[in-house]
Amino acid sequence: MECLFCKIINKEMTSEIVYEDDKVVVFKDIHPKAPIHFLILPKKHIPSVDHLEIQDKTLMGELILVAQKIAKEQGIAGYKLMINVGRDGGQIIDHLHLHFLAGKPIEMP
Ligand code: AMP
Ligand code: ZN
Repeated sequence: MECLFCKIINKEMTSEIVYEDDKVVVFKDIHPKAPIHFLILPKKHIPSVDHLEIQDKTLMGELILVAQKIAKEQGIAGYKLMINVGRDGGQIIDHLHLHFLAGKPIEMP
C-alpha cells in the first residue's frame, strides 16, 4: 500500500507522534499552518469523509474525543478542527485526518 499516512502508522516512515492508541494516531504536521498543528487520524485506512460507512460512526467520534484529550493534556484552551474532503476541498493526502490547529487565533479560510 502506497498511502503515506499508513506508512507513518506502520512505522515504515518517521514522524513526530504525539499520541497513539489502538485506533487513533496523532502526529505533528510537517508544514505547520499554526504554532500547534497536529493531524489526528484513524489507523484504519479510510480515504476521506466521503468514504465513511455507518460502522465508522463511533470511530469518527473517537477522533474528536482524542482532540479534546490532547487539548486538556497540553493545556490548550481553544483550537480549531478542520477536515478537507476531496481535491476541491483541499485534501492532498487520501487518508482521512482532522487538522488540529491552535496557538494563535485561527481564522476561517
Ligand atoms: P490535507 O491537505 O488535508 O490532505 O492535509 C495533508 C497534510 O499532511 C498537510 O498539512 C501536510 O503538510 C501534511 N503532511 C504531508 N506529509 C507529511 C508527513 N510526512 N508528516 C506529517 N505531515 C505531513
Ligand atoms: Zn492510509
